[in-house]
Amino acid sequence: MRPLARRTQQLRQSDIRAVTAAVDRVGGINLGQGICDLATPDPVRGATIDAVEAGHSIYTAYNGIRPLREAILDKARSFNRLPATDPDEVLVGAGSTAAFVSAVLALCDPGDEVILFEPFYGYHTALLRLLGVAPVGVGLTQPDWGVDWDALEAAVTPRTKAVILCTPGNPHGKVWSRAELDRLLEILERDDLWAITDEIYEYMTYEGREHLSLGSLPGAWDRTITLSGFSKTFNVTGWRLGYAVGRADVLEKMGLVADLVYICAPAPLQYGFAGALPVPEAYYEALASDYTERRRMMGETLDAIGFDHSWPEGAYYAFASFAGRAGERGFEDDRAACATLIDRAGVATVPGSAFFSDAGAGRHRLRFCFAKEMDVLDEACRRLRAALA
Ligand code: PLP
Repeated sequence: MRPLARRTQQLRQSDIRAVTAAVDRVGGINLGQGICDLATPDPVRGATIDAVEAGHSIYTAYNGIRPLREAILDKARSFNRLPATDPDEVLVGAGSTAAFVSAVLALCDPGDEVILFEPFYGYHTALLRLLGVAPVGVGLTQPDWGVDWDALEAAVTPRTKAVILCTPGNPHGKVWSRAELDRLLEILERDDLWAITDEIYEYMTYEGREHLSLGSLPGAWDRTITLSGFSKTFNVTGWRLGYAVGRADVLEKMGLVADLVYICAPAPLQYGFAGALPVPEAYYEALASDYTERRRMMGETLDAIGFDHSWPEGAYYAFASFAGRAGERGFEDDRAACATLIDRAGVATVPGSAFFSDAGAGRHRLRFCFAKEMDVLDEACRRLRAALA
């Protein structure tokens, strides 16, 4: 038979899903995949049940229903300080992932290059490749995830179309500072590049770190597409509802792409969020303080088991190094260490190599996701200490 398309030949089940399958087989605790198993807030559930009852079951506009786009516009202006003024500068998509695909298809031609910072979120690189765009990784410096500006400037070529910025970052939790964003913007302007930002963890920042949106900087709006969504903030990763904010002409093209690929985001869920937003500020405050407590539990456990880690400034992952134990049996590399933690503690993590283009760069790291109910995280930490401390 004729072969499948070349673009699918490199596609493999991601390490993250494979680890989930392995830990499920032993009935363990999954600190691997970035799914939060916390409850969906009542106002969101209630408004969505009402929307289903009200029969909101048909296609919506491809860029999403207007009341939801208005609610997102308000949030984008007040929280992100984006200079957006019109609901047409908002696109509702089937998760921020779908909005990312629309952004890449709207901006990039096959053969273009897009720069991103390593370690990276694997979906960004894998999707770029699938769409015929070359991801070009620029390494953040370890252990504090600083930006190597010379490396960034050297990575720009005539084929570079855009830079992807993930802040707060997965897997390291880096929150880009104002000074870093200013310097990045200088390069974007000088080399006439677009920016696609992924700000899905924007409400999870720690120790006074403030989330800043690149698109809010003077001059950045015209060249920045800001992506975020409801998955992480409202514990609805499976609902598939996210959004983009940016220039109306660019978003119109992204909406036309979305229309062809999936027509619209799920209608009753859009009405549900339109009914539930805005939620009181106290919701976001409680979210940040609950995650602060989880981060403390996770970080102290990593200290106790001899894993080196920089405390994440944001997001809900610890990207820890076990280099100090690398001489021990079962800790030869990241895959071995991941298997050892499942085997000895019944706890799943993600091997560090999943986050680098050069797998060797992550061979002594594991990513721990701490978006778990307190009692589940507590049990995971207890097991890790019992097995490894
Ligand atoms: N962006 C980052 C950095 C993520 O870590 C994830 C999920 O883990 C997503 C996007 C997925 O977002 P969504 O559910 O809105 O598609």
